[in-house]
Formats: sequence, structure tokens, C-alpha cells
Amino acid sequence: MGATTIDDLYWVEESEPITEDDEALRAIVAKAELPVLLTALAAATGDLSALTPERRPPLPPRIRAMLLHGGMAEEQQADVRAAAFELLRRVRDEHITRVAPLGEDELRTALAYFGNSDAEERIGLLAHESAHPSSYAGRPDWTIDQVAPDRDYKVLVVGAGVSGIAAAHRLRQVGIDFDMIELGEDLGGTWWKNKYPGVRLDTPTFGYSYSFAVRGDWPHQFAAGHEIQAYLADIAERSGFADRIEYRTRLTRAAHDEATGTWTATLTRGDGSTEQRVYHAIFSGTGQLDLPRIAEFPGQHEFTGLQVHSQEWDPATDTAGKRIAVIGSGASAYQIVPSLVDDAASMVVFQRTPPWISPAPEYHAETDATTAWLIRKVPHYAQWWRLWVTMQGAIGRFGSVKVDPGWRNLPLTLSERNQIMRDEIVDYLEQTYAGRPDLLQAAIPSYPPGGKRMLRDNGVWARALQQPQTTLATSPIDHFDAAGIVTQDGTRYDVDLVIYATGFRASDYLSGIEVIGRTGQELHDYWDGDAKAWAGITVPGYPSLFLLMGPNANHVGGGNTHFTVERGVEYGLKLIRAALERGAKGFDVKQQALDDFVEFVEEENRLMAWAQPGLTNWYKNANGRASQVWPYDDFVYWRITETPDLGDYEQLD
Ligand code: NAP
Repeated sequence: MGATTIDDLYWVEESEPITEDDEALRAIVAKAELPVLLTALAAATGDLSALTPERRPPLPPRIRAMLLHGGMAEEQQADVRAAAFELLRRVRDEHITRVAPLGEDELRTALAYFGNSDAEERIGLLAHESAHPSSYAGRPDWTIDQVAPDRDYKVLVVGAGVSGIAAAHRLRQVGIDFDMIELGEDLGGTWWKNKYPGVRLDTPTFGYSYSFAVRGDWPHQFAAGHEIQAYLADIAERSGFADRIEYRTRLTRAAHDEATGTWTATLTRGDGSTEQRVYHAIFSGTGQLDLPRIAEFPGQHEFTGLQVHSQEWDPATDTAGKRIAVIGSGASAYQIVPSLVDDAASMVVFQRTPPWISPAPEYHAETDATTAWLIRKVPHYAQWWRLWVTMQGAIGRFGSVKVDPGWRNLPLTLSERNQIMRDEIVDYLEQTYAGRPDLLQAAIPSYPPGGKRMLRDNGVWARALQQPQTTLATSPIDHFDAAGIVTQDGTRYDVDLVIYATGFRASDYLSGIEVIGRTGQELHDYWDGDAKAWAGITVPGYPSLFLLMGPNANHVGGGNTHFTVERGVEYGLKLIRAALERGAKGFDVKQQALDDFVEFVEEENRLMAWAQPGLTNWYKNANGRASQVWPYDDFVYWRITETPDLGDYEQLD
């Protein structure tokens, strides 16, 4: 049985009518992303015969950026353009502004075209990510009233960020009662906390949204931080749980009671008061990049100026005319430095290791006019557009960041495609730093592309470094004193303000929460510094505790955070459903299943750029295991999370 209703909080019933003449339509077709356009128009007109095998986007393996038109050759593009133009005229001439959702067979036809594959994994993932009703839909096709009307069942959702919001929305859909707590004063998680200058997405906006909340009118191709926070707040309103979030409330302890199959949660409020409540399940959405890692240096506490971690930035801070130091050259620094440099008296950037960057001229651009027009005028174009970005992310660029054991240039590059990626980026850096061989030399990493998270760049970083008031310090920091920072080469930098863009303690899962399992063992003792969870979701001995973005769940070679989070929620709900239907207390994943999962993940992670020896990055934990990241594409994650194998679980009666 599949879900039967549209699963999209932003579904637009009626598009604006098309009134433009043929010439204007031709101009639109000339600029549009063709596979998206053709699929949207075929769906709008009901003429799915337009989606012929010859017109499928080839989608060859990509090196780095998204493939324009899915890699279609010129001739194929011309054919698709001609077909799309005729369909667009039909939408105009037949005044098509309202379109019913596709039936399951039609959806399958459209998705097979779209993803150039009839493989179940690909169709299934794409169907999950589309709002159309289908047997693969993310929207649960059951409610607690249907499966266990007499069962008293209550869930705790920890955190009101991207993960918690997905959990709350799905729990509302199945009608299960829940409490939702949030440590902060507002919702949005990382997008509420991070208010540093320049904070914005560095992945495409449409790929960074829920399958059940496809907002079409995003102003920017890479959304600003406050735009994402507003989106998340709007979802909480639309879904109807905004007013039940308990803020300034922290989960400090959760203890499982084997006899009742329940969790007793200790909640600690901002005023220090505590309360205990009992739940049947917990969804933990505490975030992965949430605990600031503040680098330690001798003399740090003698410094008399302001010191702040990027995540703790107060937007009221006056930086004009200040001497600023930024430690780090990761994603946060890449946004902070260009935003502050122009008004600063001086700017010194302490770079330990340069990142690889992915050139993206459109990084700060508004949503382009063609896409915005199509979203307004072609029914459900926003959904198809999001699906396209999501699919290209799901396919990823794994082939570019994986070791070819026979490759001649190891360990500088890992494979032919990795070498091509390196060469492309080095070319770009050479243009960017023309005339500054010192900066160019400092900008080229000595490790393979993919070894750390790749950053988006439109040239603003290089511009910032080339300002007369900026210094790039590559000698390691030796110590601080009252006036500033001294590097190992003896240079001193007197500054007023130090910003630590030094990242997060990504492997400290559930830090600050005491979690007592079935046998009385504390979760962190069980993990012993190496957090593990089946698909990042379930942990042996801790039944009905569902981790969202847990160990090895972060999809970094491609993929979509929201997809991972939604799958975690839905997987948890499938286990809850099974418990409700069977009258069981819950399910506990077996140790063997977890061991097999970890081996499956390790086998591939070992071959990936980020696991190569000698590299530091936030993907690895203190043991050197890449415990934070998932090495396969999203289709594999879709497969393993589609239907829980209850043979992997002990049923608790
Ligand atoms: P990060 O990627 O972990 O980078 C930390 C930086 O600080 C690195 O350059 C690191 O150098 C440096 N560093 C750490 N300790 C140091 C020390 N003791 N001395 C000198 N340098 C030191 O942290 P981040 O930039 O905050 O980003 C973390 C993650 O958050 C990103 O990868 C991304 O997933 C997410 N994020 C996303 C966005 C976005 O979407 N726009 C923005 C910001 C962050 P080494 O490389 O040598 O260790």
C-alpha cells in the first residue's frame, strides 16, 4: 500500500497562466535545464510519450559540478528543445495551470526518463523524493489510529533543527503524540545558531530542502542562513507543531526500562530545574556540526581582545576598523573573511591546510530569471527542479574521490578522474591568483581533492586575501599574548578580535547526554570513543532510540542531508509501526547486524579520499576511523533503509 495524497507543504494547485509569445517561449527553452523542462511539461500535458528513451539524459559519471542537461550531446539537446517548445506552447494554448498528481505508472515512466534508469533503487529514491503518491512515498501510509488505536504511545523529539523538524512532521502525519524540546531559544538548529557574517548555504538551495516541503520561491541559488531559518520556521507553522516546541530545554539523561520498554528522560530547563518524563521512543536530532571545537594555544587566556567561535558570533559585534584574526580556512572561514575584510583595519588569516574549492560563479547569485519564470508558470516545475538537483547529488562524484589502486600518481591524486579534478581546480587557482605566486602556492593543497570537504568559491576568498590590509599566515601559531598572536616563524600579529573558525567536535555524538541502555550500560561507555549505529540510526542495547544524522550517516561524496534525515525518521517510524502492530515494546538491533554494517561502510570508506593516511578532517574520529561519513551514494542508503529487516532486530515483548 502506498501513500495516497500529495506530500508537500508547498504544493501549488494553480500556476500562473503563460501569456508570452512564441519568441519569448523559445528564449525560455534555450536557457532551461532540458531534462527538467521536458519532464515537467510531459507531466503537465499528460503526454508522457515525449519522454522517449532517445531523449533520456545520459548522466555519465561526473567529475565535480552538476552536469548541464545531464550530459546531453548537442544533437540530443536540439531534439529535446524542439519537443519542449511544442509542449510549452500547448501549456500556454490549452491554458494548463492545474495538474493532478501523476498516477504510479505515469510517475514511474517519468522517473525512468529523468534518472535514465529503470533500476528499482533509482526509481524508488526518486519517487520518495517526489511529492506524488506512490508505494515509495516518504509520507507514511498509516496512522496510529489504524494500526493500534488502543495503544498509549508517546515520543520525544530532541532538537528543533533540520532533523527534529522532519521527525515532528512525520509524527504528526501518523498521529503519534510527541514532545519536542530544543536547547536554544528558537528553532532552526545550525541555521539559528550560526549568525556569523556571510553565513549561507554552500550547496544548491533546492537540494537542501525536504521532499515534503518544496518551496519554489527561493531568492538565492545558495540560500542565506536567515532564509533557511525562515523556511524551517515556516514548515513548523504549516505542519502545525510550532507552538509545541519547548525551548531552553535540554535532554540530560535518558534511561531505558526493560520491564516497560520505555525511556525515562530527564529534561533540564534554562533555569536549572529538571523534570522526568516517560516516552516509548526517542528521535535524537541533536546535530552533527554543533559542538564548537576551539583550538587551544599557549597564552590564549592572556589575550585581552575578544575571542569567539564562528558559531557563537553575535551579529551585534562591531568589527569596523578592527584588527581581526581568523583561525582556520574551512567552510566557515571562507564565508567570514570575505564578509569582514573590507571594513577591517587589518585581517590576518591563519591557514594550516588549504581546502580544495569548487569554482561556482553563481555562488552569491539570485535564482536565475528563467528558473523563476518556469517555477511560476509550469505546473510543479519547482518539484521537478528540486528532484533534478537531488538526483545529481544522489549520484554524487564518488568516482572522483575514490582510490584506483593502480593509479600512477598516488598519493597526490587517487585516480584519473581525481587528477582531472585537481588539474581543473589548479587551473582556476592559477587564474585567480595571477600575479600572486605566494598566495597561489599557499592555495594549492598537497592532498587529493575530496580529502576534506570541498568548498564553494566565486573568487571572493582570493579577492579578500589580496586586499592590502590582509595577511595570510601559514606559519603555525606558536602562542598568544595580551596583544595578539605570535607564529612559529617569530612574526607577531596584534589584533582586537580573534575568530575561531576551527570547526566542530563532529564525532562526539550525544555529548552531554547520559544514555543508559537495556543492560544499564551508558552509551558513551559502549561506544568507547568510536560511535557506531546501524545506518547511523539504531544502536544495540538502546531500543527505540533513533539517531538522526548519527554515526556514518553524513553523505559527503554527494547526497542530500534532508534525504538522510528523512530516511532516518521513516526507518524509525517503520520500526515503531511494527512494534505497534505486533503489540511489542520495541526492537533492539543485534550486535552482529551493526558489526556487518560497520564492515560494509569501512570497506568503502578506506578507499575514499578522506580516509587517506595523514589527513586531518572532521570526517574521522580520534581513532582515525571515518565514523562520521557514509561512503556510498544515496541509492544504496535508500535500499538499506527502505524496509527494516526484522531479522536484524530482537523483538522486545
Ligand atoms: P572545518 O571544516 O573543520 O575547518 C576548520 C579549520 O580550522 C580548518 O582549516 C582547520 O585546519 C583549522 N584548524 C583547526 N584547528 C586548528 C589549529 N589548532 N590551528 C590552526 N588551524 C586549525 O570547520 P568549519 O569551517 O566550521 O566547517 C565545518 C563544517 O560545517 C563544514 O565542512 C560544513 O560541513 C559545515 N559548514 C557548512 C557551511 C555551509 O553550508 N555554508 C558553512 C560552514 C560550515 P586543518 O584543515 O589543517 O585541520
